[in-house]
Formats: sequence, C-alpha cells, structure tokens
Amino acid sequence: WASDPRFETVIRRRPTRSVRVGALWVGSEHPVVVQSMINEDTLDIEGATAGIRRLHEAGCEIVRLTVPSLAHAKAVKEIRQRLEDSYQPVPLVADVHHNGMKIALEVAQHVDKVRINPGLYVFDKPDPNRTEFTAEEVAAIGQRIQTTLEPLVSLLKEQDKALRIGVNHGSLAERMLFTYGDTPLGMVESAMEFIHICDRLDFHNIVVSMKASRAPVMLAAYRMMAFRMDAEGFHYPLHLGVTEAGDGDYGRIKSTAGIATLLAEGLGDTIRVSLTEAPEKEIPVCYAILQAMGLRKTMVEYVACPSCGRTLFNLEEVLHVVRNATAHLTGLDIAVMGCIVNGPGEMADADYGYVGKTPGTISLYRGREEIRRVPEAEGVEALIALIKEDGRWVDP
Ligand code: SF4
Repeated sequence: WASDPRFETVIRRRPTRSVRVGALWVGSEHPVVVQSMINEDTLDIEGATAGIRRLHEAGCEIVRLTVPSLAHAKAVKEIRQRLEDSYQPVPLVADVHHNGMKIALEVAQHVDKVRINPGLYVFDKPDPNRTEFTAEEVAAIGQRIQTTLEPLVSLLKEQDKALRIGVNHGSLAERMLFTYGDTPLGMVESAMEFIHICDRLDFHNIVVSMKASRAPVMLAAYRMMAFRMDAEGFHYPLHLGVTEAGDGDYGRIKSTAGIATLLAEGLGDTIRVSLTEAPEKEIPVCYAILQAMGLRKTMVEYVACPSCGRTLFNLEEVLHVVRNATAHLTGLDIAVMGCIVNGPGEMADADYGYVGKTPGTISLYRGREEIRRVPEAEGVEALIALIKEDGRWVDP
C-alpha cells in the first residue's frame, strides 16, 4: 500500500496538451505559469501599459486586461505596440465580457489569448416565467453559439493563438441553471458545451478555468472538469483561481486553500491569486504557493523552527537578518534553528544551517555536517563567508 501514488512526495501533474500563449507554453510539460490582471481601464493606454509593465517586472508571466468595447479592443493594439517599442513583448490575454464577436475579432489580433465566459452567451432576454429548456432548444442554442463563435475560433486557429473557456460560478447561463442548478456540474456542462463546439471546429488551443468565490465549490468544479475532460479525451490545461478572494491574510489563505489543494492533486497549469489589492501583490503569493508545493523554486527556502523555551537566541530577529542578507540567492535552502536538540535532520536537509549551540554561540552547518562554531554576534557574517567559500554566493 505504501507505493500508492497518493503517498508520493513529488506532485505528479495531470498530463495535458501544451498550449502556446505568446512566448510561453501552458501545460503539464511546462512550469506552472503565474498570471494576473491589471486594474487600469484599457482605454487609459498609458496607465494600462505601465500597469502591464509593473506586473511583468514583478514576475507576472501572462497579463490579462479587460476589453468591454470595440474602442477598448483598438486600445489594446496601441498598448501592445507601446510595450514592444519601449519595453518587451509580454503575453497578453483579453477578457471579452459579451457575446458580440466584433470586439473579440478585433482584440484577438493584438493579444495571445482571448478569454470568454460561456455564461454570457445568452441570445434571448431571460424569460422569468420559464423553468426549463427542452433538449431541442438546448441543441438549437448550441448551434447558435457555434455559428457565433466560429469566426473567432477560425481567427485564433489561423494565428495560432489560445482561447480560455473561463466559467464563473456566479454567471452561469440560464439554460445551465435550469438543468443543473447553481452547481459544479452546471459549470462543467457549461465548459463542455464550448469544448465540444471547438472540437467540431477542430480547435484545441484551449485552457479552461472554473472559478468560484467559495473554495469548496471551485475544488469540486475543477476536479469534476478534469475528470470529465480526461474521460472524453480532452486533455486541456487548467487555469486555477478562487475568484473574489478578498484581501489581506484571509484573501491569501483562501486562495491558497483552493489553489494548493488542486495543485497537490496534480491539477493546474497556470494560477492566479485574485486579491482586492494592487495586482503586483498577487505575484509573490503565487510564487510562494508554487514553491511551497515543490512545483517551482524561485526564492530561498527558509526552514526555521517556531522557537520555544530551548531557543538560544532571538530567532525572529536573526531570521530577519539572515533573510535580508540572503534572499537574493535563488535556489538555496537555509535553516535557522534555535537549538540542535532534535538533530540536523530537523533542518529538512537544508543546504546551510544556522543553529543555536550554547548561549552566545551558534553552529554553522553545511547539509548535516557541522562546519564551525562562532560567537553569535558573528553568525550571519560567518554564514555568508561559508556560502562564499562554497562558490554559491552572488552579490545582490
Ligand atoms: Fe525549540 Fe530547538 Fe525545536 Fe527550535 S529547534 S523549537 S529551539 S527545540
């Protein structure tokens, strides 16, 4: 039983197709991609360009912007041009919040991926007296969606660009609500309707998202979606997110609860942490989630004990100083431990250890080997010297 895949220490990702988004690839063969969205109005060309650049410089790998009108779609052309002229190309995604194809067709020429929301493909005014749709009506609506979607799909196919089928729990189409209710199954059926249409049009550059503002709902929807797609032979990558997660600690924890749980199950090829804060603040959270799950390593991994009555120095302060001195050394694991009572194994096999030895003295470890003892006041400098001796130091 111990060899059951559930007990592995490395996450095995669900095998997916690779989908190109500009210069990046999204899918299980590639690192999980970090993305976010600017909150500037796309018509504010200068502001939006600066917002994209800020996000990209913060480590955001794909940037989304909203395109609610044809004027916005045309502004994206200018934004893209400005980025290419004065900065560098950044993979861009346009959020098209309507079912009018004119806007989508315009903006698709200027971005690398178009995101549509199947819930917004409603052709007739909702009738409050209706309680159900017949199978024939659903089929007829499917046909109308296909006719509407076809020019966009053809354009994306021709230009080798991607489509995100982005279902939101809060905006399911009426026909889905009637048949499946406000449920994860309704979300899955909504996405599958569009996947089948794209399949009939022989288009497969697809990424799927199933966002909800409640983590248990999004967990169920993504799990069900992955199961259903794989069962039907559609191995499309998933974009993960808990929508409207809020701000502060709880927003981060809520997003992490949803995203990390799915990542641990092997689901998810790109992520967004949606915070009600400056979008740049989402990026370190994304990278921290990926690093904590062992999926990407983009910063020093600090292993530190919580401190207790045995602690031989001010652990919080020393950890802070060690972090300030070494945070730029990507790829290292550094342990800061208040004492060695439980042995070097407690340091989780860190590359280096800074460990309380006796009051006023600390030990420096390289892996599990104690290298030297120094007075506490010289500890951080001695740690840096050791990293330099090993040729693993770079200047900040
Ligand atoms: Fe306490 Fe030592 Fe454990 Fe830190 S490593 S929590 S100081 S026993």
